[in-house]
Amino acid sequence: MNLILLGPPGAGKGTQAARLEKLYGFKQLSTGDMLRAAVASGGALGKEVKAIMDRGDLVPDDVIVRMISERITAPDCRDGFILDGFPRTVPQARALDRVLAEKGLRLDHVIELRVDDAVLVARISGRYACASCGANYHDTNRKPRVAGVCDACGGTEFVRRKDDNAGVVATRLKAYHGQTAPLLPYYRERGILASVDGMASIEAVAKEVDQIIGKSGK
Ligand code: ADP
Ligand code: ADP
Ligand code: ZN
Repeated sequence: MNLILLGPPGAGKGTQAARLEKLYGFKQLSTGDMLRAAVASGGALGKEVKAIMDRGDLVPDDVIVRMISERITAPDCRDGFILDGFPRTVPQARALDRVLAEKGLRLDHVIELRVDDAVLVARISGRYACASCGANYHDTNRKPRVAGVCDACGGTEFVRRKDDNAGVVATRLKAYHGQTAPLLPYYRERGILASVDGMASIEAVAKEVDQIIGKSGK
């Protein structure tokens, strides 16, 4: 099954995508994670995108499309993929349609996670992740079972994203409303859009997502 999780920064895309991958084996493809890995490795791509990401603006469409089109046909996507953070512009969505058609693939569902801007700022300011395995947490909404120890791997070091601060968040939200929200009518017209109340608890959102994709996991 091939899915898109669509929603503003902090809506819960990464949280839900990680669960879907773990439970059903669809591969989570996060363009944000790929770009951060490129920045960390210090190569040409990383150098090109670092300043853009630090400001909270969108990376050029051609860079992103090149990155993702190779990825969706890799062997680990055989059982399906979850696009997390892509597409983010209408040109990216058109490019995705072309790539999928060329490869004989299709999208099953586009799931919108709907969250108010004020809540997003609180989510993003409280977000952190395990430095070893990337598992994601929140200062108040999702704490590790044992304080300071990652539930998933036992790691004790955590990191916060450089762009997860109030100033940059405003730019990222503007990019979402201006450039990404037009994807909602784009996919609605194609009959594959479903919307979920992303303000509900992580578990309640997961349940709704399961319903949309016709699964009944825990
Ligand atoms: P996105 O990938 O859309 O930017 P994340 O999945 O990283 O969003 O979630 C942002 C932050 O909010 C994380 O710290 C996460 O633990 C927390 N979070 C995710 N979903 C919910 C939810 N339904 N309710 C409360 N907090 C949530
Ligand atoms: P969030 O989880 O908060 O939605 P991401 O991790 O998806 O944020 O993205 C972080 C940054 O990476 C974005 O602010 C943007 O600069 C860049 N980025 C990620 N995906 C895309 C994309 N599809 N198109 C353009 N820029 C992107
Ligand atoms: Zn961990």
